[in-house]
Amino acid sequence: MDLSFIINQLGEDREQYFNAIAPPIMQSSNFAFKTVGEMRELLQDEYKGFLYTRGNNPTIEILRKKLAALDGAEDALIFGSGAAAIFASVLSQVQQGDHIVSVRDPYNWARQLFMNILPRFGVETTFVDGTDIAHFRNAIRPNTRLIYLESPNSFTFELQDIAAVAALAKKQGIVTIIDNSYCTPIYQRPHDLGIDLCLQSATKFISGHSDTMAGVLTGRQEMIRRIFTSELLNIGSGIAPFNAWLLLRGLRTLEIRLERSARSTEKICRWLKEQPGVEKVIFPMDPDFPQYELARKQMTGAAGLLTIQLRATGRAQVEAFCNGLQRFLMAVSWGGHESLAFPACASMHESDFDPAVEKHRMVRLYIGLEDPEMLIEDLSQSLKSIA
Ligand SMILES: *Cc1c(COP(=O)(O)O)cnc(C)c1O
Repeated sequence: MDLSFIINQLGEDREQYFNAIAPPIMQSSNFAFKTVGEMRELLQDEYKGFLYTRGNNPTIEILRKKLAALDGAEDALIFGSGAAAIFASVLSQVQQGDHIVSVRDPYNWARQLFMNILPRFGVETTFVDGTDIAHFRNAIRPNTRLIYLESPNSFTFELQDIAAVAALAKKQGIVTIIDNSYCTPIYQRPHDLGIDLCLQSATKFISGHSDTMAGVLTGRQEMIRRIFTSELLNIGSGIAPFNAWLLLRGLRTLEIRLERSARSTEKICRWLKEQPGVEKVIFPMDPDFPQYELARKQMTGAAGLLTIQLRATGRAQVEAFCNGLQRFLMAVSWGGHESLAFPACASMHESDFDPAVEKHRMVRLYIGLEDPEMLIEDLSQSLKSIA
């Protein structure tokens, strides 16, 4: 993959806009035609050109070309959020009476879709522990239409053997979708492993600056075209040209941001493993990670997110650790320039906290672009509240 070409050149037709290096933000909702014939052609097939920005727009198209190429896919669609990409892609593959097999802990809003919305339309989902291919094999029914993966997930990082699941699905005519937000195409290329549709929350690493929401979905042109003409246009969940432009800007530095974050994450991971207040560190590229071999096989790297399990006696100690952080900000999301902490106990009722449950003592850290030594110092002073 010629990453530099994709990021700096592909899709950019600079002669069209005064040889400007940065493309213009085509902030227009619609496009005019010279003849009825031309207008009719686009109304019959909006996929072919620029009619109305809910569908396509020149600034968005540059981004589509780059993100498709990065994934090694024929085409890409950009949505207003990762959640919209999940919704549109899943909806496009199922109808009443169908069955979905999903990995056990997908992103929360994927889970909500499977548990709360799809059952209202007669679509049922079985959740499986994705660490063993046998669990997928056993869950498949005659009416299974879709297998939904997320590898690694974004809290405890369980992986699925992507090539094995894709092969199993293909043999039975089942479509596969993967959420690749954690790795991005820089560290994992699911289409090369046989996956049909690949999505990411572009809000995270692609944007990289915590200032834009977006989702990306890639796949074969025939599938993407169908989703464009139906779900994308009908849900109306496309992206604004300005946000597409911000993502183009973020993309220019994607690789170097990931490299920096990956180096710092490894360093901080090694340091955390030596700390008495930390019982466990979970990071896919750590040799002690239970699926390390699989991670090495299907990923070329990992950056940013890791989870620590504190040796805390109760909720008060976990909260004291998080409240005591001076440089890490406490927030959801990740993928920006700034380091973050997200304690699992923030998502639960105070009275439900049980120190015997490992997950309750977990804090997810996102390592951003700051000086790793400074971040270690911050963690060190705050870990004193555990001792
Ligand atoms: C954030 C996230 C999403 C959802 O993306 P939004 O852009 O927030 O809608 C989906 N999957 C994963 C793994 C995420 O971290």
